[in-house]
Amino acid sequence: MTAHFPFDNSYVALPPNFFARVAPTPVAAPRLIKLNRALAVQLGLDPDLLETPEGAEILSGNQMPESAASIAMAYAGHQFGNFVPQLGDGRAILLGEVVDRDGVRRDIQLKGAGRTPFSRMGDGRAALGPVLREYIVSEAMAALGIPTTRSLAAVLTGETVLRDPIQPGAVLTRVASSHIRVGTFQYFAARGDLDSVRALADHAITRHYPEAAQAPSPYLALLEGVIGRQAELVASWMMIGFIHGVMNTDNCSIAGETIDYGPCAFMDTFDPKTVYSSIDQFGRYAYGNQPPIALWNLTRLAECLVRLLADDEDKGVEIAQDALGGFAERFNAAYLAKLAAKLGLFTSQPDDPQLSQDFLAALAKGEADLTLAFRRLSDAAADPSDLGEVRPLFSDPSAFDDWAPRWRARIATEPQDGPTRQAAMRQVNPAYIPRNHRVEAVIRAAVDRDDFAPFEEILAVLTNPFEEQAEFARYAEPPQLHERVLETFCGT
Ligand code: AMP
Ligand code: MG
Repeated sequence: MTAHFPFDNSYVALPPNFFARVAPTPVAAPRLIKLNRALAVQLGLDPDLLETPEGAEILSGNQMPESAASIAMAYAGHQFGNFVPQLGDGRAILLGEVVDRDGVRRDIQLKGAGRTPFSRMGDGRAALGPVLREYIVSEAMAALGIPTTRSLAAVLTGETVLRDPIQPGAVLTRVASSHIRVGTFQYFAARGDLDSVRALADHAITRHYPEAAQAPSPYLALLEGVIGRQAELVASWMMIGFIHGVMNTDNCSIAGETIDYGPCAFMDTFDPKTVYSSIDQFGRYAYGNQPPIALWNLTRLAECLVRLLADDEDKGVEIAQDALGGFAERFNAAYLAKLAAKLGLFTSQPDDPQLSQDFLAALAKGEADLTLAFRRLSDAAADPSDLGEVRPLFSDPSAFDDWAPRWRARIATEPQDGPTRQAAMRQVNPAYIPRNHRVEAVIRAAVDRDDFAPFEEILAVLTNPFEEQAEFARYAEPPQLHERVLETFCGT
């Protein structure tokens, strides 16, 4: 019986310069490590069939399901500020699009499926370590309620890939509401191909911003839509200490999802200057730089759209600058509202931004763990007179001691009782995030010992991040000094 994929492919209907038709390169011995059964069902796929040997053949690229698109998408991008006119899917092949149970169109893509016309010097493959990292972190992000690409499956190829050190090869099946990036627009704009920019913009509007089609200026509405979603997205990253690590324009999704989990990492101790990625030498993509970098990326998008915004170029630039000016407002509003919720505030008062900024400053001064501090504050909200579990998180609690009475006084102005506030705070302050040392340990067990039990366990913990899970309490703990991961690698 053939696993049926209800494909409804729209990207292949775009002009032929948008992609290359290419088939995956077969692998030696596919072995399914993990299938995301719930996601399969959501996509209208049969999880039982995907778990058969034939399913592994499909999820590794050895067999193509009927009516697959089988394309590599063209895109460009600014990498660490330098423009590369041609990147493209060098190791990812789009199987096709399906319309999911909620009516949302979603790409199903095999990452690590072999060389494509965009591979440049690369081998077209993915290594097991980064595949597991992406699976874990993307699914954790989804459970945390943050827009993200998803992971449908991870398959071992039965081959090795030449990395340092040599690793087992793997293929990740990535699901995204689309793989259109800022870099996709740049690919055509850099070639002066305005017709293609327009065709791509029309496609993006239909697919992601249908309301923009009704607007007086649909392309302006598209730009504003992307600005708004990116502002929201980066604000939610900041809440959980997520550091993307490679915010290049080719990793900036038009749909507003977190995409490309190369060297991403979560901050333990709160420090806005934190950088983990080994290739980010100058801290361009440090935690605290993410909002201005998002705006920088959006500015590159706006440049591509200028000619669509007005017939007159100067006028187009003016309109674009105006729209970009809205980013700060959108970001700040989202950021402050999310922070206020994390502090258990139900209403909004003029001094709230200061109160939340001062809490973050206290965390920084006291080298406190971001996740644990907000979680313990949530626990304490039931009886805020006792902050005895929070205070020891600060190496220097002086700023926290000044702050605590202000917080108590502020929440006392609201009618909600302690348990109500505690419950609300626990819904936005996770107990569990993918801490780097834990993710690293999972990868080591799988890569070095073919042991996937820790991978299963961490997924169980992280897909339920807001619930206390007594048997997994250790996952809430920051690393001991000797466990700390100071650097992460793309591993591509
Ligand atoms: P990334 O760092 O994953 O965002 O990738 C940046 C660019 O390099 C994209 O065009 C990828 O397709 C390409 N790339 C990354 N790794 C490989 C690889 N192993 N083989 C071919 N292309 C790759
Ligand atoms: Mg990328």
